[in-house]
Amino acid sequence: MSKDNLGTESYRWDLSVFYSGIDDPQIDKDLEILTERYRKFNETYKNKLAEKLGPALLDVEEIDMLAAKLNYIGLQQSLNVADPVVKAKSADVDRKLSDIYGEYMTFFDLEMVALDQAILDQLYETDPTVKKFKPYIEYSRVFKNHYLSEPVESALTKRSLFGPGSWSEFFDEFEADLEIEYKGEKKTFEEALNILTESKDPEERAAMLKQVDQVMAGPFGKYSAQTLYMKTGSTALEVKDRKYSHPMASRNKSNRIPDEAVEVLHKAVTEVAAPLSQRYYRLKAAHLGMKTLKWSDRNALLPFHDDTKISFDKALEIVLTAYRSFSSTLAGIVETMIEHRRLDVPPVKGKRSGAFCSSVVLPGRKTASFVFMNYFGSRYDVMTLAHELGHAVHFTLAGEAQGPLMYSAPMAYAETASVFGEATTFNFLKQQLIEQGDKKALLALISGTIEDTINTVVRQISFSNFERRIHGMDPSYTTWSEPKKHSIGELDKIWLEVTREFYGNDGDVFTYENAEHLWAYISHFHSPFYVYAYAFGQLLSHSLYAQKDKFGDQFEPLYLDLLRAGGTKDALELLKPFGLDPTNEQFWIDGINVGLGKLVAEMEELSAEMGISVK
Ligand SMILES: [Zn+2]
Repeated sequence: MSKDNLGTESYRWDLSVFYSGIDDPQIDKDLEILTERYRKFNETYKNKLAEKLGPALLDVEEIDMLAAKLNYIGLQQSLNVADPVVKAKSADVDRKLSDIYGEYMTFFDLEMVALDQAILDQLYETDPTVKKFKPYIEYSRVFKNHYLSEPVESALTKRSLFGPGSWSEFFDEFEADLEIEYKGEKKTFEEALNILTESKDPEERAAMLKQVDQVMAGPFGKYSAQTLYMKTGSTALEVKDRKYSHPMASRNKSNRIPDEAVEVLHKAVTEVAAPLSQRYYRLKAAHLGMKTLKWSDRNALLPFHDDTKISFDKALEIVLTAYRSFSSTLAGIVETMIEHRRLDVPPVKGKRSGAFCSSVVLPGRKTASFVFMNYFGSRYDVMTLAHELGHAVHFTLAGEAQGPLMYSAPMAYAETASVFGEATTFNFLKQQLIEQGDKKALLALISGTIEDTINTVVRQISFSNFERRIHGMDPSYTTWSEPKKHSIGELDKIWLEVTREFYGNDGDVFTYENAEHLWAYISHFHSPFYVYAYAFGQLLSHSLYAQKDKFGDQFEPLYLDLLRAGGTKDALELLKPFGLDPTNEQFWIDGINVGLGKLVAEMEELSAEMGISVK
């Protein structure tokens, strides 16, 4: 695999900042130290937070940094997915951690959120440590009215590994074992999806989709339907017991986004982004010489697919140049990461698929980010690299500024720097191709980015509507009622309804034959209301990117401050310096138009020059 001449071999992680290996005896020693510190913490601070909140917070920071060392096991697991030793160690450490955390730490959040506001206000005045942690404290207190009693919370934490979450854990194992018959061969689910994207034969793609859809209708679909019921049922219980106003309230609160911003996001994507995506797919059909697309053609490659291979060193150079053109601070952070060997990129056997960035603040307040990917050399991979490095620079700036308790941005704007880095790199690559006059490669780059944006914005909001429906929202998305146990047939029906809301009526742009059971493999539904944040993050970044020219030289320092804020501000506070307001529908419409809208128009223009247009 590494004979690909892309020069990826030497880019492997150096994880020695954590441990020397999975058998390093220090792992168990750290677990023991951690247990002892949690126990001591409980003994020292329980029922005493009103007097000792400052020192307690400093201790939580220390404990947190020690616990961060154990992230090592997760990183090792990504490099050796099937290694039984790593797997066993990971399960063992997870179990011990949730046990000791449930036993000793449950009181902390409960007691902190229950503190009298007058006492807290006094502490903000008199204790500089407490003042420093004000955003952290206030964020925890958002959930003040939603906690249950301590024994109940403690029992729930201890049982969390054996609750609804265990259904989705087994779901992944079940999916990994799926076999899909195709042309007399058995394919894994992953391989089947890959054929849907890679195959240049429409008949072959349609046949593959039929097989996939049938497998989804079998035992796996039944299991999936039951998993969804476990999730919607347990969420409904939480809503009732914890007194949330609706099933999405808890997620919106932890995302630090007001409900109305989430609503206008859904509205703008349905009304503005969905028609744009249909415009794109009509053009795609024209390029493929088809009148309408089958659902199996949705991700098919276009005829001008770009096969250029870019060496990894070249990719780094492109990304660094793009980053530097905008901020030397950000480029500097990337250079340091390369020096410290924090990138693992060759697609070798045993690694998990995909890409991610994992960041920690280690003892001594040392921040470290680790980028993981499978680099195959396409322009798409270069953008993935830019994306993950964006996460890394975000975490580095926030980690240094805010420390272990407040660096992590909520999911909904954790994507800011990554999408931004990707957009900067995209524009750099685009400019290069324009100068080279390579229109086909340019079309490939633009269409790839459009499809990416559609999949992040339109598709995720269609997922979100499916979720809202199965959690009890009515088809016009106005009121909530108790979720019910849906049969496979009922889930199919809801799935097709929401798909049509975004991709058009049957035969309009797409036909939906063999697409009705595809809800069954979307594992994101197992983290309720997780998906809308993808669209939120992407559009927010596009809106922000569009402010770059408007603000000129003033943009970089404002932007770096936004990144440094980490988890200390909510969406409204973060965007205020840029004059942006996410509760206003226009904010989202602008985000859609400056990204997706502009690209679709460019694609139409380039296609027309090639003699291809939609009548
Ligand atoms: Zn990301």
